[in-house]
Amino acid sequence: MIAEVIINRSAKKLNRTFDYNVPKEFEELILIGSKVLVPFGRTKKLEEAYVVGIKEKSNYEVKDISRVKNDLTDKQIELAKWMAKRYFCNISDCIKLMTAPGSNREKNKIQEKTINCVYLKKDDETIGFEIDTGAIKSDKQKKVIKFIQDNPGCTIPEIELFTGYTRGIVKTLEKNDYIEIIQKKIERNPLINKDVKQTDKLKLTEEQRLAYDKIENAIKKEKYEQFLLYGVTGSGKTEVYLQLIEKALKNNKTAVVLVPEISLTPQMIDRFVARFGKDAIAVLHSKLSIGERFDEWNRIKEERAKIVIGARSAIFAPIKNIGIIIIDEEHDSSYKSEMSPRYNAKEIAKKIAKEEHIPLVLGSATPDLNTYYKANNGNITKLTLTKRANASNLPTVKVIDLKQELANGNRTMLSVNLHTAIERNIKAKKQTILFLNRRGYSTFIMCRDCGYVVQCPNCNISLTYHSFQNKLKCHYCGHEEKVATVCPECHSKKIRYFGTGTQKLENEIRKMFPKATTIRMDVDTVNKKNSHEVILNKFKNDGIDILIGTQMVVKGHHFPNVTLVGVISADSSLNIDDYRANERTFQILTQVAGRAGREKLEGKVIIQTYNPDNFSIECARKQDYDLFYETEIALRKQLKYPPFCDIIVIGFNSLTEDEIKNTSNFVYEYLIQHLNKVNFKVFKPLPSPIDKIQNRFRWRIIVKGIMTDEANVVLNNCLQNVVELNLKSTRVSIDVNPNNMM
Ligand code: ADP
Ligand code: ZN
Ligand code: ZN
Repeated sequence: MIAEVIINRSAKKLNRTFDYNVPKEFEELILIGSKVLVPFGRTKKLEEAYVVGIKEKSNYEVKDISRVKNDLTDKQIELAKWMAKRYFCNISDCIKLMTAPGSNREKNKIQEKTINCVYLKKDDETIGFEIDTGAIKSDKQKKVIKFIQDNPGCTIPEIELFTGYTRGIVKTLEKNDYIEIIQKKIERNPLINKDVKQTDKLKLTEEQRLAYDKIENAIKKEKYEQFLLYGVTGSGKTEVYLQLIEKALKNNKTAVVLVPEISLTPQMIDRFVARFGKDAIAVLHSKLSIGERFDEWNRIKEERAKIVIGARSAIFAPIKNIGIIIIDEEHDSSYKSEMSPRYNAKEIAKKIAKEEHIPLVLGSATPDLNTYYKANNGNITKLTLTKRANASNLPTVKVIDLKQELANGNRTMLSVNLHTAIERNIKAKKQTILFLNRRGYSTFIMCRDCGYVVQCPNCNISLTYHSFQNKLKCHYCGHEEKVATVCPECHSKKIRYFGTGTQKLENEIRKMFPKATTIRMDVDTVNKKNSHEVILNKFKNDGIDILIGTQMVVKGHHFPNVTLVGVISADSSLNIDDYRANERTFQILTQVAGRAGREKLEGKVIIQTYNPDNFSIECARKQDYDLFYETEIALRKQLKYPPFCDIIVIGFNSLTEDEIKNTSNFVYEYLIQHLNKVNFKVFKPLPSPIDKIQNRFRWRIIVKGIMTDEANVVLNNCLQNVVELNLKSTRVSIDVNPNNMM
């Protein structure tokens, strides 16, 4: 028997199978998906590899597999192979997503998290007898025995702490056979400290019931169907998810819930814990320690946790017997990976749902335009929730023209209108959220005389000013430098920061409203493991007047006392160089607006902008997704953007300009020759908008057309041809519909 294996390394050249002989003693053990160790190359060290195929004979002279360790299922291997083709990456990189977190060396360290627990070996009666008859004389021993009697399973440090005696006594007792010390595995459960009251299911509204019934029908019939649960914020989508999951569990199935990383908030997880209890739920996200992720992974694998809630990569969790997959806030860009493997979790979920014959539910208040297009054209079943579930009204939204403010002589960050509204809100003891779509103190440093902008020497991108350290930093390579006080170009002293950040806003707010309390949430304040939770709880429980923040304040939170939301400037997402600028702007504004007046209290939203006539802002004001959709989809059709075609970005980066030019031309010629000219437009290679990062030149080729299986083969063959060029430093990547076009 011969096994075809993939070496578990990322080198492009190793993205092929190698044949190995399966020794007799392993024949029963080796399956597709087995992890094995094999001799490879000239070194003595064994290489880790995965079995991806099995056959009778090999055309080569082959070596033996050295060891076997079963890990993945053949379904997972199939998925990895499919992904490697679809996302133009190595199979081994896809397999890594499906194996327990941590490298092997880390795993050895984290796996054995055990503690020594001490138990009495004899029953109470016997011990009492021995104490009474004087068999145990030492007072110290008696005291320790008593402590263990009261606290079975205590640890040695606990005994030391509470009895004051040293571990010598414990050892003596062990030697004399009074006690035994047992090693126990302890679980690092991220939900361990959660103390959440259980909730029962709510009586569904008519709209919720309709949606629920349709999806439940798919669960019952065990058939694949894709649904869009389209409902304004607060329309009760989450309640529908909860009841569907309950249904799946009742059928002895499991559930996977994906949410954007940023909205994996404690509040959101609490709702699931409150319904199903913490033992049923495994949470996977990047803020967990490696040990916690490892343990959660194992709880899923051992079928103890039946519900997985996690960010993008949780779709690869080793869960068995899935009954439903739910993707909340399905429009969120974080479902698409921007690093190799450049996969889209929605596509993976669809593939899994099809294979398992289960429903896939996509939920959003502002669906991805592509999703909504499919929902309108019959490929996805559209289910709509039009009303807020708890009968609270949608907030009123007002748009303020900042050009007008400036003309009236107002140079502060707040329009008169917003200023007054905040003042009133503070008086009424209601809370306010101010949203700013930026990070740091400001964006860049520019000379007001000659327009010189301080740039990173490695990356051709403007440096960001960080006021806390009074330094300029590059967000791409980490380069740092001191803030210039004189323009290096024209020696003018009028060189200063431009743009506005949360810190600056907070300072202004404190000056304007000295009596108000404020709290800030952005990437600078949220970095430690729980400080997200700390900030939100503080805002909620301490009745802080004003929360100032970036993106993070936008999603998923529920603050009953927030009645005012101010958007300082809606424009930053409008001015990005991306065909999705309108969509992003509409989504973000609608979501911020959704934070106001979530309960009985009337909510108010004030959006400040320099572009009050832009239709995405206008539609956000009206809170009219359908109008936005109609306008935007017409534009997309006319300009041939997704969903009417795919945008394939072939990226090059290299240390030398010569090699990058030659390689991109090679790829260009290849594609012109091999891609169908009627269906694909291949643009000439050009430097990327950011044409250098970390001293590597960056070029790209853009291809517009509808991705097909044939085109996929052409692109994969093209990459293979590039590998055979044996380039010195140039790397080539292919991304279909990337989030970031820079
Ligand atoms: P979404 O997920 O669409 O934002 P939620 O599920 O968070 O909406 O619901 C918003 C609020 O309405 C929550 O406080 C929730 O408890 C409440 N709610 C949801 N469904 C119902 C229902 N059927 N009856 C009463 N209240 C409901
Ligand atoms: Zn200058
Ligand atoms: Zn840099």
